[in-house]
Amino acid sequence: IALLLNRSKQKMRKLSMTDYLSGLFNRRYIFSYLKKQLSSSTSNKEKLSLILFDIDDFKDVNDKYGHPTGDFVIKKLAELGLNELRKNDVMARIGGEEFLCILPKTSVTEAREISDRLLKSISGYSFQYKQNESIHITISIGIANNNKFNQSSNDIYTLADEALYQAKSQGKNCIVVAKSNNN
Ligand code: GH3
Ligand code: MG
Ligand code: MG
Repeated sequence: IALLLNRSKQKMRKLSMTDYLSGLFNRRYIFSYLKKQLSSSTSNKEKLSLILFDIDDFKDVNDKYGHPTGDFVIKKLAELGLNELRKNDVMARIGGEEFLCILPKTSVTEAREISDRLLKSISGYSFQYKQNESIHITISIGIANNNKFNQSSNDIYTLADEALYQAKSQGKNCIVVAKSNNN
């Protein structure tokens, strides 16, 4: 019985961290992870990068192909994203079609290279939702880094979000590095 209880506790714990659709971490988990990771990175003077991305014109995908096909695209995209990340990177689905990756010990330059690969891998992929029928999508990406002393998890997330917003307004399917991270 103790063993069973333990197993079901573990299951519950896993569920509480997981996004049901994509199998990635959920919003609650990744923001608490970010807080911890940021404070240890800062005190060890280590770099940490965030990659925030959002599917472009996803509303059109749902409108054209239906919600279940949209769900299929989200699931597959989670797989593609994980393929581009490294062992210690963490990825979550934090909103409908919005994803956050935390990259410990990673400079802006490295994060940019990974983002480039991610962008290309997704835009080059055929999401085959039916035999002989596939969808193509693109994403927009914002990158931010812990470049300042005393930066909170909220600050760094806000930087990434502003960069993502700029990527959208620059025409989508592109990457923007947060301004204060350019130097
Ligand atoms: P933008 O390029 O500016 O991001 O445009 P967009 O259409 O992607 O953004 P918008 O925020 O207007 O629409 C997001 C859409 O994502 C609308 C919503 O129906 C869809 N969506 C959100 N969550 C899910 C989900 O879990 N499954 C599916 N299939 N669609 C979802
Ligand atoms: Mg979108
Ligand atoms: Mg969105």
